[in-house]
Amino acid sequence: MQETVYCIGCGAELQTEDPNALGYAPASSLEKEQPLCKRCFRLKHYNEIQDVDLTDDDFLKMISSVAETDSLIVHLIDIFDASGSMVPSLGRIIGNNPVILVGNKVDLLPKSTNLNKLENWLRAAAKEQGMRVKDVFLISSKSGIGIDELSEAIEVERDGKDVYVIGTTNVGKSTFINRLIKQSAGEDQVITTSYFPGTTLGFIEIPLDDETALIDTPGLINREQMAHYVSAEDLKLITPRKEIKPRVYQLNAQQTLYFGGLARIDFIKGERQSFVCYFSNELPIHRTKLEKADALYEEHAGKLLAPPDAESLEMLPPLTKSTFKVGDRRTDIVFPGLGWVSLTEGNATVSVSSPKHVRVSMRNSLI
Ligand code: GDP
Repeated sequence: MQETVYCIGCGAELQTEDPNALGYAPASSLEKEQPLCKRCFRLKHYNEIQDVDLTDDDFLKMISSVAETDSLIVHLIDIFDASGSMVPSLGRIIGNNPVILVGNKVDLLPKSTNLNKLENWLRAAAKEQGMRVKDVFLISSKSGIGIDELSEAIEVERDGKDVYVIGTTNVGKSTFINRLIKQSAGEDQVITTSYFPGTTLGFIEIPLDDETALIDTPGLINREQMAHYVSAEDLKLITPRKEIKPRVYQLNAQQTLYFGGLARIDFIKGERQSFVCYFSNELPIHRTKLEKADALYEEHAGKLLAPPDAESLEMLPPLTKSTFKVGDRRTDIVFPGLGWVSLTEGNATVSVSSPKHVRVSMRNSLI
């Protein structure tokens, strides 16, 4: 029988099967005297954090030890998928530790977005999850927007304590930490990480000073994320890469918009008005009559109504419908992981369909 080998960096049990899971290492490195998993190897030699994914149970097991620490939590979420990227019940899991909530990918929002409203909405969503949010920041790990202000706030709030960075997969956690590392260590300087064999399973510590550290935790796979139900190709297409250009449709009641074949909105009742759509510029939007919408999907899902491509079509749970009554103010209907539709006049009834588990929500308009 093969002997169990642990990574001397993060303490994870080494495995050679799944490159995205915790403790992956090429077979050759298992023979080494001081074996490292690929994630720790890359950090040590290239100053680069790589994400590993964990499912709910493993993640909970690991993260629950944070409750026993006295630390600052930086919870990174994706503003295009706020509900899908918030770690459920994080407030309960991390005990009394304060949280800085960080909305990433702000570079993708149209310039006209009201960032204050977005912050308030994120704050309210976090409160619903029972989190004690100290502060909310909107940043772009990619372009660097807001990083300096956030770094300063972390320095003040942590007050000499450790900082845990927590996020679900795909929110940009590695991009974020890599940026912080470059900022504090400089491009060429190799940072030294402190190793505690066997004690910090899957946590990677990046020293902030002689006594405290920034701790990268594995990313949680949240099944409410659209990202888990589409192929890698489709994920590229639905993930916005550039600033979003709003697309405007003047709709009468009894008309429908399809977002590829991944989601749809039916305008059931209300005055003619603009439906302003904020999605990846590459996601095709189709307008049709409500009475023809079901037949169109039956015939054209995966073809005219794409994405989903053939591979995603197999992974995709059935679309489920819910109904929203919109009051007399401009309102956004949010499709997590895809984007949102802003109803300019309000006073409307709409039905929305999205893959089961991916829950659509409503908020006061951000624009
Ligand atoms: P992780 O799984 O949380 O570690 O996420 P990654 O750091 O691998 O990022 C996931 C995807 O989001 C990648 O395609 C990144 O390029 C992209 N990304 C990360 N941060 C940003 C950001 O601030 N803006 C934009 N536009 N994309 C980002």
